[in-house]
Amino acid sequence: MEEDEGHSLPKWVLLEYKHMLSLAGQGNKVCFTHLSQSSCAAIQKGFESVANSVGTQKSSEATFEATSISILEYMKLQGVPMNRVCLLDPRGSKELSPEDGSEFEWFLFGGILGMSGDDPPRDRTGELRALGFAGRRLGPIQMTTDTALGVTKMIVQDQMTMETIPFVDHPTIKFSKTESVEMPFRYIIKEGEPLLPGGMKQHLYDDLNRGFND
Ligand code: SAH
Repeated sequence: MEEDEGHSLPKWVLLEYKHMLSLAGQGNKVCFTHLSQSSCAAIQKGFESVANSVGTQKSSEATFEATSISILEYMKLQGVPMNRVCLLDPRGSKELSPEDGSEFEWFLFGGILGMSGDDPPRDRTGELRALGFAGRRLGPIQMTTDTALGVTKMIVQDQMTMETIPFVDHPTIKFSKTESVEMPFRYIIKEGEPLLPGGMKQHLYDDLNRGFND
C-alpha cells in the first residue's frame, strides 16, 4: 500500500522490505503484492544493490515474490481461502496469540512503512479490513511493517508472547552528540538496540544531512 511512484522504490522501502526477508527467516515466503510492474523489477534489482551494505546471509532469509496483482487475486491463484489469512490490524479486536499459528497459514500486513510519516496513524489498514479478513492486534502502539512481521513470526512460529519480546517505543537514534532522530514507532530490542533494517541507520543519517527530501 506504500505510495508507488511507478519507477523505483525509495531506498528506505527497499531496506524495510529486505529486512522482512531476514525476520521471516528460512522456510517462509514473503509476497509483496499490488506493486507496479516497474516496482517489481526495482525490488529484484534493489535487493541486490542493498545486499552488500546490509550483509545478511541469503540462506537464512525467507524467499520472496513481488507481483503487481492484488491480494485477492494472489490468494485466488494460490488457492488460499479467506479464513486462513490473518490481517495484522492495529484496530483488531483480539491480540495475536501463539495459537493463531495453527488457525492461520498466511499473515497479511498493510505495506505502509516507517519513514513515510504515517504518524499519527491514519488507519490505512482499514482498506484491507474492509475486504473481510480476520484481524489481530500487536498491542496498542504502531510498529513499522518489518517490525510487525518480525513480531508476528516470533509469536506464531517461535511461540513467544508480546510480554516476552523486549520492545522500545519511539527510540531516538543518535548519530553524534548533536545529531539524532526520533522514530515514532515501536521496535524490537536486539543487543540493547532498536532492531532497524540493516543499512537504515546510515540511510537516516544521509537523509538528515539531505533534509529528509528523499
Ligand atoms: N498507520 C497505518 C499502520 C502502519 S503500520 C495505519 O494507519 O493503518 C504498517 C502495518 O504493520 C499495518 O498495516 C499492520 O499490518 C502492521 N502493524 C503495525 N503495528 C501494528 C499493531 N500494533 N498491531 C497490528 N498490526 C500492526
